[in-house]
Amino acid sequence: MKTLLLSAMLLCGVHDHHTDAVRLTVDDIPDREIWIHPVIPIKGNVAIREGKWIQRPYVFICHDGPVTEHRVRNAVRYWERLGYTFGPISTLEQGNEKCMTGDAVGGSITIDIPSQDFKFGTHLGQTRTWRWTATNEIFKARIEIIPAWGDSERILEHEIGHALGWMDMNSIGHIMHRAWSDGGLRSTGVKNEVND
Ligand SMILES: [Zn+2]
Repeated sequence: MKTLLLSAMLLCGVHDHHTDAVRLTVDDIPDREIWIHPVIPIKGNVAIREGKWIQRPYVFICHDGPVTEHRVRNAVRYWERLGYTFGPISTLEQGNEKCMTGDAVGGSITIDIPSQDFKFGTHLGQTRTWRWTATNEIFKARIEIIPAWGDSERILEHEIGHALGWMDMNSIGHIMHRAWSDGGLRSTGVKNEVND
């Protein structure tokens, strides 16, 4: 299974996807087990959401992160127009423990440069989300982008889409298209529904 998924990613030329669910405990939310959920590449052209936030996510940029606050504000605005709300956007101080360890701050979408398991060569960015299995509530997410691509059109927007729970799809010109070159700004199916 893992081999098949990796083969698919080689074709997609972009970002994300963790092929193994990793069980771990984190210090910021004690006494509860959490899982890192894989974002599984799919062949379909319909938007599928695998989790969602209950609280508004803060957006933190690690000190040595790949994007400016200005760039992040623009990307966040794309999703705000689709009905999503976010907490404040700010830059973390140098040496922040979560940034140093490839983690994300609880309650936030944390943006940083690639960590150890980044798939260089096939990916420009990747996003990991942490969810409660019982409710599918996302409680933190970590976006990693190669610094040279930080300012590139749509990559950050796409990764924020993952951080909001959306999966990759294959609809040409869509923000969640898995391949950067075939994607676009189209947002069919990913609006935040009021009673969702
Ligand atoms: Zn993706």
